[in-house]
Amino acid sequence: LVQVTGVRKSYGAHEVLAGIDLTVEKGNVLCIIGPSGSGKSTLLRCLNHLEKIDAGRIEVCGELIGYERHHGHLREMREKDVARQRRKVGMVFQNFNLFAHRTVLENVVEAPVRVKGEPRDEVTARAVELLDRVGLGHRQHAYPSQLSGGQQQRVAIARALAMRPELMLFDEPTSALDPELVSEVLAVMKDLAVSGMTMVVVTHEIGFAREVADELVFMDGGVIVESGPPAEVIANPTHARTQEFLGRVL
Ligand code: ATP
Ligand code: MG
Repeated sequence: LVQVTGVRKSYGAHEVLAGIDLTVEKGNVLCIIGPSGSGKSTLLRCLNHLEKIDAGRIEVCGELIGYERHHGHLREMREKDVARQRRKVGMVFQNFNLFAHRTVLENVVEAPVRVKGEPRDEVTARAVELLDRVGLGHRQHAYPSQLSGGQQQRVAIARALAMRPELMLFDEPTSALDPELVSEVLAVMKDLAVSGMTMVVVTHEIGFAREVADELVFMDGGVIVESGPPAEVIANPTHARTQEFLGRVL
């Protein structure tokens, strides 16, 4: 479902992604770990076309991200086609980014109605189901400020799912949470994985990666240093940099 080949990205002279190759099969979960500044968020943003890449290619759901064929060569897509591609990919950030002046339910309903033009009553019914699924059916009329961080993040997940994405990206979804709230968000993510969603998750939750991921990638300095089945990478990291990093987070 996701195929990344030779992707490079620089900010000025600083090469943040220095040739990334990875594949995620449909229904699989890829976890990405690595030190601060290694390029994890940049990679996720490229998958969603929030950043343009300098070289390489990214395919999601069999489509090249950001480019289309035109008379036999590739040209940059128009903004409306980029927006169409982006709708297939849900993203959850560290800081929830809910609309503060909308209720929980309104937050979840907003995008499918406004961006996709779906009928409000259909979307509302689906939103209520999604809120039940993340354990917040009883808080649909609350405002984000009345919820805990863990609850807000679960609303953010429901909101992303309301767009019926084919791929979900998570960028350190539990890093801003108090420790006792982390597990409720990870449980929702695990359910989602079990239900067959294709997911790319940047996280420092090694236990989650070990239990849920099909593949674990360790990034450092804009490259994938090591990857494989999580249990293997965690138990027997072959590179010194992976060993050192795991030694710090485990
Ligand atoms: P963290 O664990 O701290 O979130 P990360 O692995 O997600 O780190 P990125 O956010 O991808 O790292 O950033 C990689 C590098 O790119 C960093 O050195 C960062 O300063 C730089 N960078 C990211 N975005 C920009 C930008 N818009 N302009 C210039 N430099 C940027
Ligand atoms: Mg980051």
